[in-house]
Amino acid sequence: MSRIWNFSAGPAALPEEVLAQARDELLDWHGAGCSVMEMSHRGKEFTSIIEQAEADLRELMGIPEQYAVLFLQGGATQQFAQIPLNLLAGRSADYVVTGSWSKKAFKEAQRVGNVRCAATTEASGFTRLPTAEEIKLDPFAAYLHVCTNETIHGVEIPAQRIADTGVPLVADMSSHILSGPVNVEKFGLIYAGAQKNIGPSGLTLVIIHRDLLGMAPLNIPTVLDYAVMAENGSMLNTPPTFGIYMAGLVFQWLKRQGGLAAIDAVNGEKAQILYAAIDGSNGFYTNPVDPDCRSRMNVPFVLRDAALDADFLAEAKAAGLLALKGHKSVGGMRASIYNAVPLAAVQALVDFMNDFARRKG
Ligand SMILES: *Cc1c(COP(=O)(O)O)cnc(C)c1O
Repeated sequence: MSRIWNFSAGPAALPEEVLAQARDELLDWHGAGCSVMEMSHRGKEFTSIIEQAEADLRELMGIPEQYAVLFLQGGATQQFAQIPLNLLAGRSADYVVTGSWSKKAFKEAQRVGNVRCAATTEASGFTRLPTAEEIKLDPFAAYLHVCTNETIHGVEIPAQRIADTGVPLVADMSSHILSGPVNVEKFGLIYAGAQKNIGPSGLTLVIIHRDLLGMAPLNIPTVLDYAVMAENGSMLNTPPTFGIYMAGLVFQWLKRQGGLAAIDAVNGEKAQILYAAIDGSNGFYTNPVDPDCRSRMNVPFVLRDAALDADFLAEAKAAGLLALKGHKSVGGMRASIYNAVPLAAVQALVDFMNDFARRKG
């Protein structure tokens, strides 16, 4: 058995160390006599797992006490509905649309209530961020929604461009959470499906300012009410226990890497060498995104000659480079280089790309 370099957009690569630890602990977790999957979520063993996971996440991200951390289910997609259900409270909310995911979030929110598009870059093919002048904010909005990393279009909002607009900022960070330091206090709510940069699918993380709890109308389903989930420590019902355990192992792995500043530096280097290979290929490969908002996690690129796509993918696979096919809506290739994808994997990809371009260019 050998593991290959995995560039999957999600569910995505996990740190090998974490998988090995989970394997070693699988049949008998710390002398409990059973696996994490087989124990009560209300027992002392699992309580220690979820409490440690939350404490480690708080430490990594610097999450202040006035924020609740919720371990939920339903994916980021459920949050597209759950956010307006909880936070609209009869008002309107603003959405900035910078790619497929924020567009989906906006569309879903339209089903729930009154929301407006404050800016969209769809006309430019989602290859840039809107300028400050293009964003038309409603000062009375219940919240402003952004997607800080568009997984499909490869557009990331750099942390320093997150500005205070006077209304609670809600951010879909599914595909770059934990990729570097973030000032949680700039946000009212942060959410992320786990399967990109946290752990296995089935777990959804929500970090919410406690001021935003308890705003939901009384008629929303109990299981969707953030305040109820917070009061119950994410355990109104059975939480995704194995996913929480795995996320906890990933948080500990991140701490061993030196925390988010350290992983940020590695991510910067990975992205730098990959974009340099694309930009230095004399047009053999291109990435259409404005350099000031290129994603450090998801790198879409096209080959000048799309007729070579199939060869590229087949040869990449033979070279041990997996899951490079681009999303069907944009075509071409995409390399997702999340935290768990090491620099050596990106180096192997770059070497392959250079060689392929030399042979076929
Ligand atoms: C993957 C992804 C989603 C959808 O996540 P699910 O967990 O499948 O619902 C939403 N937003 C972003 C930015 C994503 O990358």
